[in-house]
Amino acid sequence: MADRLQLEWDVRDNGWADCRIADATTMATFSVSYCTDGLAALLSAVGGLYGASRLERFFFDSEPMEVRWVLRREAADVAVAIYEFPDVGTSPDLPDSEGRLAWTATQPLSELAHVVLTTAQQVLKVHGRDGYLTKWIRHPYPVSALQDLRGLHLHHDQCDLPHDMTLPPA
Ligand SMILES: [Zn+2]
Repeated sequence: MADRLQLEWDVRDNGWADCRIADATTMATFSVSYCTDGLAALLSAVGGLYGASRLERFFFDSEPMEVRWVLRREAADVAVAIYEFPDVGTSPDLPDSEGRLAWTATQPLSELAHVVLTTAQQVLKVHGRDGYLTKWIRHPYPVSALQDLRGLHLHHDQCDLPHDMTLPPA
């Protein structure tokens, strides 16, 4: 039984967000800037693991840090590793081993997808599409990435938990 995964995505003003991830044993918080479209990247990466992809990687530009996510599909599970590098200007070319491992856990893909979806839907509920764009500035709310992941999760996983399907008007 995996520890219950928790994810919070708090969109602040001026193109910054706080991402907090935790399981029963470890917690980490990351600042995310709008230089990368963090929430869209997270939704897309988890969605990618339902297909042929065994490995998804993306990073948050955390000015000046790089926060690199590495998601490895292992049968029904996903090993998540999040690395920090001090300078995003140079680090995207560096191997993972040169970063600091800030958080790691292995969770069922169905659980990871459910939690990411719930968190992303909550962001939409709190801000709406207009409010999100006002705060995030460079990127609109990732509606299609949310819908794609939800479709994959509902199709492939026997998830009995409730799913909020509300989409506010554009
Ligand atoms: Zn679910």
